Amino acid sequence: MSLSPMPLRPASHVQVLIAGGGTGGITLASWLRKLSPQLEIVIVEPSPFHDYQSGWVLVAGGFIAPEDTRRAEREVLPEGVALIQSKVVGFDPDHNAVDLIGGRRLGYDVLVVALGIELNWTAVRGLAETLGHHHVTSIYSRPMASYTRRCFEEFQGGTALFTQPATAIKCGGAPQKIMHLAHQQFAARSGVGVNSRILFCTAQASLFPVQAYSDKMVEIAARHHSEVRYHHDLVAVDGEAGLASFRLQEPGQSERMDTIHFDLLHVVPPMSAPPVVAASPLAVRPRDGDPGRASGGWVEVDPHTARHVHYGNVFAIGDVGSFPTAKTAAAVRKQAPVVAANVLAVLEGRPLDPAYDGYSACPLITNDHAVMMVEFDYSKQPVSSFLMNPVKERWFAWLLERFGFPWIYWNRMLKAQPHEATYLKPFAGLARRLGLMRWQA
Ligand SMILES: Cc1cc2nc3c(=O)[nH]c(=O)nc-3n(C[C@H](O)[C@H](O)[C@H](O)COP(=O)(O)OP(=O)(O)OC[C@H]3O[C@@H](n4cnc5c(N)ncnc54)[C@H](O)[C@@H]3O)c2cc1C
Repeated sequence: MSLSPMPLRPASHVQVLIAGGGTGGITLASWLRKLSPQLEIVIVEPSPFHDYQSGWVLVAGGFIAPEDTRRAEREVLPEGVALIQSKVVGFDPDHNAVDLIGGRRLGYDVLVVALGIELNWTAVRGLAETLGHHHVTSIYSRPMASYTRRCFEEFQGGTALFTQPATAIKCGGAPQKIMHLAHQQFAARSGVGVNSRILFCTAQASLFPVQAYSDKMVEIAARHHSEVRYHHDLVAVDGEAGLASFRLQEPGQSERMDTIHFDLLHVVPPMSAPPVVAASPLAVRPRDGDPGRASGGWVEVDPHTARHVHYGNVFAIGDVGSFPTAKTAAAVRKQAPVVAANVLAVLEGRPLDPAYDGYSACPLITNDHAVMMVEFDYSKQPVSSFLMNPVKERWFAWLLERFGFPWIYWNRMLKAQPHEATYLKPFAGLARRLGLMRWQA
């Protein structure tokens, strides 16, 4: 159904300006409309399309078509919300204004930054040139999701190499999901499974930042006979020669290089805060004795209210925020009602609600009938929305990932409708109080 957006007032000042109309921008706009139907909301978004990015793994696995992961931006725009198809090129929070491409300036009462994360394909030497050729691929790009599927089909044995960078990434489980799907597909084709070696090279020191999940992931990789190498940071690719070069930064050892031959390479590119944010006064500022924080460049927000720590009328939602949790759509789903309530609190001069608990989830596909839910929060402990141990692989969770979540994304989350699991919340609260909701492998 095509919705007609609210006509823009000629004035270039709006009540609530949302920079970015991806998962966070649209979900938040829907919550704001729901809580305050008269509010004036404008979204600035350059893309005419909206993508269900989690679905790119399912495209690569051959479960859904690429078209199932994309809709027109105007189709997902909540009724009454105005869309400016443009790009933010500068933030000026001292004057409550943003600059758009082409010289237009837009003022606001409240700004919410929802620009997502920047993919830095050129940070790995040779990658941009060879991506999409010589069986070098990545599910972090929509067109490459289909190419990944083709690479899997054409793979006749040899080394299938999967990488994860040193930087923060969106969906920390995706680099492994795609490896497990490859394992399953190769194993199912006679001759290919036995002639193939699957290698996972990560620049990180563990497979996941939550210990219980990391332990289980090590176990699953071993079960699939996939080799895992830590502290391996991909720095260069030669697609034609089938060579991937890694910088090894093992603790206590001097830096060295390792070059690995591959027959198929799946790359997760380094990621960063969008440069327009990192260069603005909204970015995490350097602190004495903590220079590492400066390199983040994320919008510096209070982790519980999502409000900027220096600018009281600025918020962030999603990947672009400095929330110390995994960058996922699942996190956005939990942030959106909190951010919406707090935006209204600022407009009405009420105190803010510090209700976001760092919830995030990276459902890990381990084969075509099992998923481990991988839910957690700021405590860095497993939590469960479904009253069942999230450290276990389950068929039910696979059904959710394959059929449930895509439907929930388009029909519930983007429309500010509660997730079905929300109805389990009172029981989950009780179980947590009784100490029944702390899960281990
Ligand atoms: C392969 C893959 C698998 C994933 N799997 C999962 C999963 O299983 N579960 C899960 O929860 N999450 C998953 N994610 C992560 C999830 O998609 C993101 O965390 C989520 O989309 C973040 O929402 P966001 O609004 O912060 O960013 P986005 O949805 O990326 O939106 C950012 C928007 O900002 C716009 N923008 C950028 N620059 C500008 C600018 N200068 N001016 C204006 N607009 C701009 C962009 O066009 C975009 O529309 C996955 C992602 C990928 C790529």
